[in-house]
Amino acid sequence: MTGAEAAIGLRDALAAAPRNVTGFVAGGFVRPHGEALPIADPATGQTVAILHESDAHEVDAAVRAARHAFDHGPWPKTGIAARQQVLMAIHDAIMAHADELAALESINTGVPLAQTRGMHIPRAAYNFKFFAEYINHSAGELYQQEEGFLTLVSREPMGVCALIGPWNVPLGLTSMKLAAALAFGNTCVVKPSEMTPLTVARLFQLMGDCGLPEGVVNLVNGRGHVTGAALSGHPGIDMVSFTGGTETGRAIMGALAKGIKGSAMELGGKSANIVFDDADFDRALDGALLGVFANNGQMCLAGSRIFVQRPIAERFMEAFVARMQSIRIGDPLGVGTELGPMINAAQKQRMIDYVGIGEGEGATLLGGGKTVPGMATGYFVQPTAMLSHDNRARLCQEEIFGPFATFQVFDEEDEVVWLANESRFGLAGYVWTEGLGRAHRVAQVLRTGTIWVNTPMVRDLRSAFGGYKESGIGREGGRGCEAMYTEIKTTMIPVTPRPIHKLGGSNA
Ligand code: NDP
Repeated sequence: MTGAEAAIGLRDALAAAPRNVTGFVAGGFVRPHGEALPIADPATGQTVAILHESDAHEVDAAVRAARHAFDHGPWPKTGIAARQQVLMAIHDAIMAHADELAALESINTGVPLAQTRGMHIPRAAYNFKFFAEYINHSAGELYQQEEGFLTLVSREPMGVCALIGPWNVPLGLTSMKLAAALAFGNTCVVKPSEMTPLTVARLFQLMGDCGLPEGVVNLVNGRGHVTGAALSGHPGIDMVSFTGGTETGRAIMGALAKGIKGSAMELGGKSANIVFDDADFDRALDGALLGVFANNGQMCLAGSRIFVQRPIAERFMEAFVARMQSIRIGDPLGVGTELGPMINAAQKQRMIDYVGIGEGEGATLLGGGKTVPGMATGYFVQPTAMLSHDNRARLCQEEIFGPFATFQVFDEEDEVVWLANESRFGLAGYVWTEGLGRAHRVAQVLRTGTIWVNTPMVRDLRSAFGGYKESGIGREGGRGCEAMYTEIKTTMIPVTPRPIHKLGGSNA
C-alpha cells in the first residue's frame, strides 16, 4: 500500500465519528439545533463534520445537569474502588479505539499520525489510569497537638467543574482535566475548541458504557465568545479549568471574579532554549528541532526562542536550518510525515506575517517562511527560522504558535539568564550544557514552571506542570490537580470535652 492509499484508508476512521457534533447533556446527545459550523480537515480545507453550537440555553441545561448530579447524585460520595473501576474502563475504551481516535485527531488537527498515535492518544488513556492510581494514595491530615482536640484536614470534591480545552492537543489536554476532575469526585461540563471537537465527542460516545452516573459528564460545543463565555459566566459552576491563550484566560478570570469562583489557567508560552558551547552538540540540535517543530510547532511549551552561545552559534544555526529544510511536510495521515498543516488559514497567515514583522524589526530570515510549493489546498507552511538581535522585538516576545524558531546569540551565562527571563511568559525552559553546576545554576534562576536539562519535553504526571507570570495559575499533575479539583475542609473535634466559656452564665 502506498502512503497516499494508507491515508485514504485512515480517513475511513471518520465513519465512526459523529458527523453532526452536538452537546451531551444529562446522559444523552442533544438533538442538533444550534448554529451549524463547519469542522475542517486542515490538510485539505474540506469540511468533514458539522458542529451544532450550544447556545446559552443548552449550556444552562448542561450546568444544571452537572449541578444536580453533584448535589443529589451518587458520584461525589462514590467510594474509591468504584471510581477507579470507571476510570479504568475509560482508559480501556480509549486504548481499544486508539487507532481510530488517533486518525480522527490527525484529520481534525493536522498533527501527524505518528505523534497522535504514538503519544497523544496513549497519553489521553494514561491520564485516566494515572488518576485512578493516584486517588488510592491521596490522604488527609491529622493534627493532635492542640490539647484535647483532634483536627482533621480532609479534601472534598470542588463541585461542578467547567473544563475548557484548546485545539492543539484536544483529547490529550481535555482528558487530563476530565480524568482528574472525575477522580476527585466532581461533575463536569466540558467545552472543547469549536475547531477540534471530534475526538472529545467520540470519547463521550465511548464513555457511555463505562459506568458513569447520569449528569456526571456533560459536553457543550461552540465558539468561545458564545458557548465558552456562557459556560464560564454561569453561576452554577464552581470553578473553571482552562487551557488556552493568555488573553482568553484573562477574560475568563474577569468573568469568574464576579462570583468569586476559582480557576486554573494553563496559558501561553515563549520558552527559551539555551544552548551553551559545552553542550553535546548533536543532542542539543535534535532537541532544539523537536522542541520547536513537534505537534506542527503548535505547542504551549515549544522552545521557540533559541539562544546559542557565540563560539558554536554559526555552526549550530547552519545545522539547524539544514535539518529543518529536510523535515518531511505532508498529509498528517501519510507514512513518514513529520510536519502537517497549520490548524486554519489564519494561523498559516500568522506564520507568514511574522516573517515580515521580524524583517521590519531587523531580523534575518535563515530559512522557510513561505507556503509549501504544490500544497496549496491545505494550510501548509514551511518550518521557519529567523535570527534576531533584539530581545525586545515582537519576534522574540510574542507567541507565534507555529513551526517558527527565533535565534539569538549570547556570550555570557548571566546575560542569557537575563534575556531568557525578559519575557511576560514563564511556562518552560530548556538548558543544554555538560556542566553540572551550570545546569543547576541556570535552572534555579530561570523564572519558569518547568526546566528540561539536556532533554526535550518529557512529562511525569506526578510532577507539577504550569506557568509562572502570564503563562498561568495553578499546576496540573498529581498534587497540582488534587489542589485544583478539591476543596479543603478542617474539622476540629474535642476528644476530651473542655469547659466552654458561658456567655451570660456564671463564669466566676
Ligand atoms: P484560545 O484561548 O483561543 O481558546 C481556548 C478555549 O477557550 C477554546 O475552547 C475557546 O473556544 C475557548 N474560549 C475562547 N473565548 C472564550 C471565552 N470568552 N470564555 C470561555 N471560553 C472561551 O486558545 P487556542 O485554542 O487558540 O489554543 C492555543 C493557546 O493555548 C496558545 O496560546 C497556547 O500556548 C495555549 N496552550 C497552553 C497550554 C498549557 O498547558 N499552558 C497547552 C496548550 C495550549 P473556541 O476555540 O471555540 O473559540
